[in-house]
Amino acid sequence: APVIVLFRDDLRLADHRALSAAVGTGAPVIPLYVVDTAHGLGAGETARPLGGAVRWWLHYSLESLSEGLRALGSRLILRAGRPHEVVPQVAAETGAARVLLNETVVPTHRESARRMAAALEDQGVEAVTLRPDALVWPSELKTGTGGHYKVYTPFWKALKQAVGDPETLPPPERLPAPDHWPDSTPLAEFRLTPAMPDWAGGLRESWTPGEDGAWACLHTFIDGALARYRTGRNLPAEVGTSRLSPHLRFGEISARQVWNAVRSMAEPNASTDAYLSEIGWREFNRYQLFHNPDLHRTPLRPEFRLFPWREDDADIRAWRKGLTGYPIVDAGMRELWETGWMHNRVRMIVGSFLVKDLLAPWQVGEAWFWDTLVDADWGSNPGNWQWVAGCGADAAPFFRVFNPVLQGEKFDPRGDYVRRWVPELREMDRRVIHKPWQAPLELARTGYPEPMVDHSHARHRALAAWRGIKDAA
Ligand code: FAD
Repeated sequence: APVIVLFRDDLRLADHRALSAAVGTGAPVIPLYVVDTAHGLGAGETARPLGGAVRWWLHYSLESLSEGLRALGSRLILRAGRPHEVVPQVAAETGAARVLLNETVVPTHRESARRMAAALEDQGVEAVTLRPDALVWPSELKTGTGGHYKVYTPFWKALKQAVGDPETLPPPERLPAPDHWPDSTPLAEFRLTPAMPDWAGGLRESWTPGEDGAWACLHTFIDGALARYRTGRNLPAEVGTSRLSPHLRFGEISARQVWNAVRSMAEPNASTDAYLSEIGWREFNRYQLFHNPDLHRTPLRPEFRLFPWREDDADIRAWRKGLTGYPIVDAGMRELWETGWMHNRVRMIVGSFLVKDLLAPWQVGEAWFWDTLVDADWGSNPGNWQWVAGCGADAAPFFRVFNPVLQGEKFDPRGDYVRRWVPELREMDRRVIHKPWQAPLELARTGYPEPMVDHSHARHRALAAWRGIKDAA
């Protein structure tokens, strides 16, 4: 009898434990992906529909995985529906004896897998979950008193020690095919990519989804920007980071593989340490998600439930469109819209601006990023928004309010990043490019807006609001 391998956010052939285990059984293998058209488990449960940019990526990543499987003499079977309903159905159609899948920290996927396993058991089919698709499985990393870590530094120390030299698996050489393939829905029918309007041109130019694209990206980084990563990672005008995040988001490459590649191919120094520590932050966010399944809704610091946020539609629209009048903020928001990605330094600046200068709820920013980022991640997106808003695990304190002018001048000193994404300001002198209102005549010619809020006023307003909840706590 064949075995089914259920792919989820692990769209790769190498270091795929479930796939390798399936090949190890010697039975025919049916690779399956269920496009979750019901968005998780249904209304009122932990459902979270995927955002537009991620759906675009998913389309091409599935196409790439499908080609990879064909080269191994196999196929990718695609179906639509809820995984916990569809997988048992495919098992019944094919007479499969077992379903293999990799464990994940994503709450919706975990709940869906539990239900799937129960339905399969009723059919006499075994569901085998392989652990872990994380550097270290969250429940295995505990503090000295048996709790879970809420502070990064001790977490990172414990993680490094626990990871050691992780084993990674090579891709299978061939997959034994079943006598009969079950039906597969053509990828185009899922309409994961936009038709009209086609907003994905900038995404197509910026990215190569899939396992090969992931490795190309990692090699380019290791051969180039990694050596200067410690300082280069903060300069948005340069290609100073790996841009691996969407590939990691979809598991086209595993954190174990990245870990090993960096440690074996580069001299250990402050830059490789800094890079591995960012991989550590990714794990930290996934770890928090595992322990706090409602991370995208509920602040980890309970006093923030009382925060007097203002949800002003016009303000939020200006932020989304990159028309706040603060060049570094607008450059970031436009980079995001155009490419589905934004530099980490700028994510922190635009996040601080939304939450502290506009006092908009962090969940509004999280939701916009969820829809527009190609790397929109179940753990890292809400985790970082909570960090920015001061309500997360080991978060930046709320009172540390980024000044968008000083941040711009420090991290984009020549204004090249702003000029690239805010072309109206291309001709502005570098001395005023981060505060163009100081050159009012030139500014009037550009059509670029005046600042929508006065930063120092906004800062005082934010601190007053924060003091209110702090005193109440
Ligand atoms: P590199 O600097 O090359 O880092 C390598 C890898 O480490 C990244 O690919 C990523 O997987 C991980 N990493 C780096 N920084 C962080 C971090 N602060 N937190 C968690 N992991 C990190 N990252 C996402 O992957 N998905 C998100 O949805 C996401 N949302 C964010 C929202 C906000 C408000 C902020 C401030 C940050 C967010 N990040 C998110 C983290 C970070 O900005 C991106 O991971 C990073 O910019 C990706 O670019 P890179 O691959 O070139 O990073």
